[in-house]
Amino acid sequence: MRSLILAASRNATVEHLVETAPLTRAVVHRFVPGPGEDDAVAAARTLVADGLAVSLDHLGEDTTDPEQAAVAAKAYLSILDRLAVEGLTPEAEVSLKLSAVGQALPGDGERIALEHAHLICAAAERAGTAVTFDMEEHTTTDSTLRILAEVRKDFPATGAVLQAYLRRTETDCRDLATAGSRVRLCKGAYEEPPSVAYEDRHEVDLSYARCLAVLMAGAGRPMVATHDPRLIAIALDRAAANSRPVDTYEFQMLYGVRPKEQLRLARLGHTVRVYTPYGVDWYGYLMRRLAERPANVAFFLRALATRS
Ligand SMILES: Cc1cc2nc3c(=O)[nH]c(=O)nc-3n(C[C@H](O)[C@H](O)[C@H](O)COP(=O)(O)OP(=O)(O)OC[C@H]3O[C@@H](n4cnc5c(N)ncnc54)[C@H](O)[C@@H]3O)c2cc1C
Repeated sequence: MRSLILAASRNATVEHLVETAPLTRAVVHRFVPGPGEDDAVAAARTLVADGLAVSLDHLGEDTTDPEQAAVAAKAYLSILDRLAVEGLTPEAEVSLKLSAVGQALPGDGERIALEHAHLICAAAERAGTAVTFDMEEHTTTDSTLRILAEVRKDFPATGAVLQAYLRRTETDCRDLATAGSRVRLCKGAYEEPPSVAYEDRHEVDLSYARCLAVLMAGAGRPMVATHDPRLIAIALDRAAANSRPVDTYEFQMLYGVRPKEQLRLARLGHTVRVYTPYGVDWYGYLMRRLAERPANVAFFLRALATRS
């Protein structure tokens, strides 16, 4: 099921079908507050008022021309200004996919992405907040970590993402568990070959637990991005074992996923950051959410069936 949906996420015909299906909008709305900057700001305001932190993601990835990359970068500069004006920083930060700002462009894509990322991180710093670079397919991991290292020279608060399903990640955790280093640990959402990634869910969970142990024992700021109750319990255990004050790590979850658990952890005094995507380019994001959880697929199909 997972492979099928992830394959569909790259299929233009299926994309057209899903985008034009009746009630798709209602389903999308569960995971994406809306297409515009106003929708993002309104969602951030509500979440912050509820005691949650936020990471806004302007939807879009795999940009294929330099102009589109510049437009994506502008969207980030604009939302960062808005967040500052609205008084939503530092609680709200942004998450950035480097492929949206040119990383995959042929030739000097990495340089283009670095330049855009640098400008966005500067704008975030001016706005009193920071940027986290999302992690995408394994073929981009080295490039993303190179861009991160470069940007961190000027903006050390820039966050990294590591994916526990990759066999290399425990080593990457060791490299990045340094003072001041913000590292989001997630399971990983893409279809990857067994040569580089664990396929078995249990093996991914074990890798996640090992990576958590490294990050929690290190000097950085672990950002525990999962909805998995067992891994949340392990994170709390590792934080206690390392005598970590509650403000030296955080939990992160996706908008629309386990909202009650988000509030429960926040009420216990933990920082819980809600990854909140906005924009019109929601297709790839929605398909990854459906691939993660059969219940989401049932929800989607039910929603489509009720109208047709
Ligand atoms: C803040 C954040 C940022 C992310 N950034 C990236 C990124 O940059 N790159 C990337 O590849 N991936 C990213 N991801 C996605 C991530 O890799 C996983 O695909 C996604 O989080 C699902 O994994 P999970 O850890 O929640 O566990 P899963 O294996 O999906 O779920 C584990 C358990 O969590 C509980 N659970 C999960 N969903 C629900 C639900 N809807 N309702 C009730 N219980 C539920 C259930 O008990 C379930 O058995 C991010 C995820 C988060 C939360």
